[in-house]
Amino acid sequence: MNAEIIAVGSELLLGQIANTNAQFLSQQLAELGINVYFHTVVGDNVQRLEQTVKIAQTRADLIIFTGGLGPTKDDVTKETIARLLQRELVMDEEALRSIEAYYARTKRTMTENNKKQALVLTGAEVLKNEYGMAPGMALTVNDVTYMLLPGPPKEMMPMFIRYGRPFLLGKLQRHERIESRVLRFFGIGESQLETEIEDLIDRQSNPTIAPLAGDGEVTLRITAKHASAVEAKKLLDEAEQAIVRRVGQYLYGYNDDTLFSKVIERLKKYGKTIAAAESLTGGRFAAELTAIPGASQTVKGGVVCYTNEVKERVLSIPASVLKTDGAVSGQCAKLLAEHVRTLCQADIGVSFTGVAGPDPLEGKPAGTVYIGVAVAGHETEVHSLTLVGDRETIRTRTIKYGCFAVLKR
Ligand code: ATP
Ligand code: MG
Repeated sequence: MNAEIIAVGSELLLGQIANTNAQFLSQQLAELGINVYFHTVVGDNVQRLEQTVKIAQTRADLIIFTGGLGPTKDDVTKETIARLLQRELVMDEEALRSIEAYYARTKRTMTENNKKQALVLTGAEVLKNEYGMAPGMALTVNDVTYMLLPGPPKEMMPMFIRYGRPFLLGKLQRHERIESRVLRFFGIGESQLETEIEDLIDRQSNPTIAPLAGDGEVTLRITAKHASAVEAKKLLDEAEQAIVRRVGQYLYGYNDDTLFSKVIERLKKYGKTIAAAESLTGGRFAAELTAIPGASQTVKGGVVCYTNEVKERVLSIPASVLKTDGAVSGQCAKLLAEHVRTLCQADIGVSFTGVAGPDPLEGKPAGTVYIGVAVAGHETEVHSLTLVGDRETIRTRTIKYGCFAVLKR
């Protein structure tokens, strides 16, 4: 179902009020899974309203009007629709009684004019106005559904929720809710991930599983449709569990998570701090982490130890290690991580040393990277990577891998 919302009222065009009715209705329709393709605003003018309705009829199968249902001369919505659809207006007895009761209650005298508000389109379902006088209407003619709602939001909103919404629900043969979730993976290539879950991708049509790769990461978007949101979520959970059974060790987060935000989140959760010694990454790891709000409680600081001189002088890497193993070595990464941890008095020390390229270093090709992760009371871990790509890619992959290594501890 594709909808157009037509707000009728010259005060909207004059900028005296904002079209909050369209906003409300759009949100409501989205929840029902109905696409809203157009919001239109037209003044209290019969000709222009007619023109607007004719255009809407060509591009929408649900047209919702708000405004212009009142008793005054400028309220023309109902009459215009009646003429266009060649429908008579008939007195709705229930609406009339409620208008009379309203007048009795407020001790005002009812004019002939007010009776006009109880006129409804023949064949329409009458939507009760519990907070005012003019009733709403809904009817379907030639496969187009028309819904007429009053202008004042205090009348329109409860009317839509109580009567308009159930009417539309009845109309929607297949009323579907669409729920989706993004699973974020690192440390596994797109093709390997796809191979691992190929049968799941092939087998399932609901939910659908769509892989997407970029920047060394792979994401899977799973999308489920169901009449009930709860059931749609259940479908997502089931699909996720099946995926996690296969490749759960590479899953690091969901939706808007990033590796950096997950590191901060994890450290915060356990009340731990981190420090980094960065050679080939030149401080980018610390920069990314400190870009996350809340990093101040977790990121102690670090050292950009780009030269051997700084590795030796600031981080106490023995000259013998730099000479025999080299700066690009597992031994150097191990000591850098341990020393930056103690130097910054952090719980976790991470180090990055390697060849960003394009030229080799110490006879080691570009893409040779060592990452050290030192945690108090534990054996220091060293990850040896062989990355491919240009300088930028290698540096980006390196800091992401650093996050992943920390998350896996
Ligand atoms: P009434 O019986 O009060 O005349 P009506 O259905 O004829 O109601 P309008 O006369 O068009 O509606 O508008 C009445 C009031 O409702 C406006 O003055 C305005 O305050 C509010 N209103 C109308 N349209 C909108 C809109 N699209 N968004 C927000 N408020 C609106
Ligand atoms: Mg009015």
